[in-house]
Amino acid sequence: MIDEVLSFLDSNGERALADLKKIAGIPSIAAKNEGIEECSEMVLGMLEDINLEAALHATSGSPVVTGLYDAGASRTLMFYNHYDVQPAEPLELWKSPPFEPDERDGRIYGRGVADNKGDLVTRIWAIKAFLETGKKIPVNVKFVVEGEEEIGSVNLQDFTSKNEEFLKADGGIWEFGGSDYDGVQQAWLGLKGIFYVQLEVEKLSRNVHSSMGGILPSAPQKLVDALNSLKGPDNQILIDGFYDGIQPLSEAEWEAIDKIDLHEEDMKEEYGISQFQNGLTGRNLKEAVYGAPSSSICGLTSGYQGEGSMTVLPGNASAKVDFRLVENMNPLDVREKLRKHLDAHGFTDVKIAWSEGYAAAKTPIDHPFVDVVRRANDKVFGDLRVHPTSSGSGPLYLFKDHVPMVSVGVGDVESRSHSPNESIKLENFFKGMDRIALIVDEMGRW
Ligand SMILES: [Zn+2]
Repeated sequence: MIDEVLSFLDSNGERALADLKKIAGIPSIAAKNEGIEECSEMVLGMLEDINLEAALHATSGSPVVTGLYDAGASRTLMFYNHYDVQPAEPLELWKSPPFEPDERDGRIYGRGVADNKGDLVTRIWAIKAFLETGKKIPVNVKFVVEGEEEIGSVNLQDFTSKNEEFLKADGGIWEFGGSDYDGVQQAWLGLKGIFYVQLEVEKLSRNVHSSMGGILPSAPQKLVDALNSLKGPDNQILIDGFYDGIQPLSEAEWEAIDKIDLHEEDMKEEYGISQFQNGLTGRNLKEAVYGAPSSSICGLTSGYQGEGSMTVLPGNASAKVDFRLVENMNPLDVREKLRKHLDAHGFTDVKIAWSEGYAAAKTPIDHPFVDVVRRANDKVFGDLRVHPTSSGSGPLYLFKDHVPMVSVGVGDVESRSHSPNESIKLENFFKGMDRIALIVDEMGRW
């Protein structure tokens, strides 16, 4: 029976591609609040078109679009996607207009085709294939398609907190994914959390002549000292209790990680470095990627940075710092520990001006749904490398108590998400639909 579904997809690839072109033609840029209404309506229409009970849920920002198909089945499959995209700037670097999707050399180019309208369309069409071939969909299907992922899913919690029942499912497919340098498909089971903070120091009522530097306090010096106190030379974070409660990577996770090639030499070349921090390599490097929190200074502002010299003692200074969190870390707790650390080390005058963040989340690597995805992937793409978590962050924590998520998708290493000339391989787009149809099929027999 699934063969008919797959052959339908095989002969209707161009129709699916036409849908991708249509939706990728809408500049739905959450950061500029452009095209959001139009795109959310289009998603609503696409979900209605595959017979889902679809709805728009207003939030304080972009609406969340949901779809539900109740097959009366024992298992429920969820899809999480987003219909917003990153801004397309700098426009002059695009070889074809970002919002006029263009096929070239076996790829389709356009803002959002990789992140993540291509994935959304493959998922909708996989369901459509069951309908149009008159085959019973063997699972209940839910879609959650938000419109603010690219600006931090700022209002998604509005929706999730009011719709906890809807979030319940036996397995879910998260928004992104793709193949690696060597063409092998990758799956991610989690996302790191994040705590982002702005630190500010004000020492003087105004900027003054730097000849006063011998007698007046320096805001940037104080800030730099405070930042220095956060990390040791070995890159360990020195905030008291920062690592408390973190679980080491499990044996099953290591087994999966050992199969992953991080392509250290390619990465070094890409980033223009001769070695990673502290000479990390092999398993140590992998542990830093998959199992450890990190902290980075994302911005530093103070004094004069223009051409030539300006002898000034800045009155204030500020820094933006992020902490990437692993499971069992809580951003509010990190904030508290950071405040305590600053106070205990003589930095009571370093102010936490604002902060935001959310926790990490991951699906256990031995969850049976991971195998459902693996079996489906095997039939289409072959091998699947499973990453216990991505080093990136996202709103997975809002779902984690309700549905185990696995992230697979149609991108590849040349997809250039968030950059000019974003694209996906057509082959991956077509095969991506098959994989979703097979996940539905496999899940029906789980
Ligand atoms: Zn993105």
